[in-house]
Amino acid sequence: MKFETFNLHPAVAAGVITAGYIDPTPIQAQAMPHVLNHKDVMGLAQTGTGKTAAFVLPILNRLIKSDHGGIRALIIAPTRELAEQIHQAIETLGQKTRLKSVAVYGGVGINPQIQKLKRADIVVACPGRLLDHINRHTADLRKLEVLVLDEADHMFDMGFLPDIRRILRSVPKNRQTLLFSATMPSEIRHLANDVLRDPVTVKIGTTAPADTVRHALYPVAQHLKTALLLKMLENIDTQSVLVFTRTKHRAKSLDKKLAKAGYRSASIQGNLSQGKRQAALDGFRNGTYKILVATDIAARGIDVTQISHVINYDIPSTADAYIHRIGRTGRATQNGEAFTLITGDDRDMVRAINRVMGSEIEQRTLSDFNYSSPAPARNKQPQKQWKPRRNYAGVKKERSQRANA
Ligand code: AMP
Repeated sequence: MKFETFNLHPAVAAGVITAGYIDPTPIQAQAMPHVLNHKDVMGLAQTGTGKTAAFVLPILNRLIKSDHGGIRALIIAPTRELAEQIHQAIETLGQKTRLKSVAVYGGVGINPQIQKLKRADIVVACPGRLLDHINRHTADLRKLEVLVLDEADHMFDMGFLPDIRRILRSVPKNRQTLLFSATMPSEIRHLANDVLRDPVTVKIGTTAPADTVRHALYPVAQHLKTALLLKMLENIDTQSVLVFTRTKHRAKSLDKKLAKAGYRSASIQGNLSQGKRQAALDGFRNGTYKILVATDIAARGIDVTQISHVINYDIPSTADAYIHRIGRTGRATQNGEAFTLITGDDRDMVRAINRVMGSEIEQRTLSDFNYSSPAPARNKQPQKQWKPRRNYAGVKKERSQRANA
């Protein structure tokens, strides 16, 4: 299938060329004809499948054909990174259309958004800040024609469903609605029943990640994880490696160890300010950092087309989270590798992941790695007789470490 078969308006078709897309991805080939026909669509697709363009192109095509003014398309996304990425995709694909998009999310000043909302045709928003605008009457959604709920399962995970339901009260009932989700927990099924009218369901690789990804498990003792990771990194071309850890604290400390070993690495975790987080993401995107260490929450919405390896330093806590993590490599047309370090405690999760993948993931060992190095002995220091009173800073540090666990 070719993009020409969609008969896009020439200004929208020009955007496809600007973006450098040659052929539609499977989600685009399957969803776009229905979206272009103004049908409601439920898209079961993970990040990396090309789902953004699957709704952005038909929206641009619809809005360019008539000239109503006002906000006519609203895309709701769980994180500011994802909102920003979708906004960027609209800017690229819609470069020749003169349609205006604004990204609306918290953590930044509200006034510039208010100004841009006055002129916007398309709004890409995170739920909390959008509700703020609705309550202040600075976002008028009465002329809305298309509503997109993107990464609906993440919005549920992050507790946004009540906000989404509040937003729904402010948009016209007569509209086109598209809902995208990588997984289908019952809450999303209920939401879909409530918001979609006679939808077409399009399903792309929801049970297994893109088949451009090779997977492997690396059994190892907990105390040897860092050493094994360093050994693995010696053997791979560290073009762009995303490493996942279970906690913010582990992300930070692993990043330090990687930097000490001479790698250009950065970490992102929930505690970072928006500025620092953006700097780390930008550095990873432009190649300044070859390795980015992240927690699941912090990594939401990361879109770096070139990720060559996803390494799970810690196994994720659900099989769905595995799919989401892996969704960041092997995007669209490139190959990727997904490595997971596993310990004896991870057996149940490995079984769950194998089930979702539909086959047993290969287990690998490195021939030149000493798997039997003993764990460092704890409490080698003689017990102190006397404990100094902890000062407030010490208590605070301990508390924040506990919060990170
Ligand atoms: P998404 O799943 O929307 O996050 O898209 C994943 C990546 O694939 C993005 O970097 C897109 O720019 C890219 N992409 C989307 N559609 C295509 C296409 N038809 N051909 C090549 N790359 C694409």
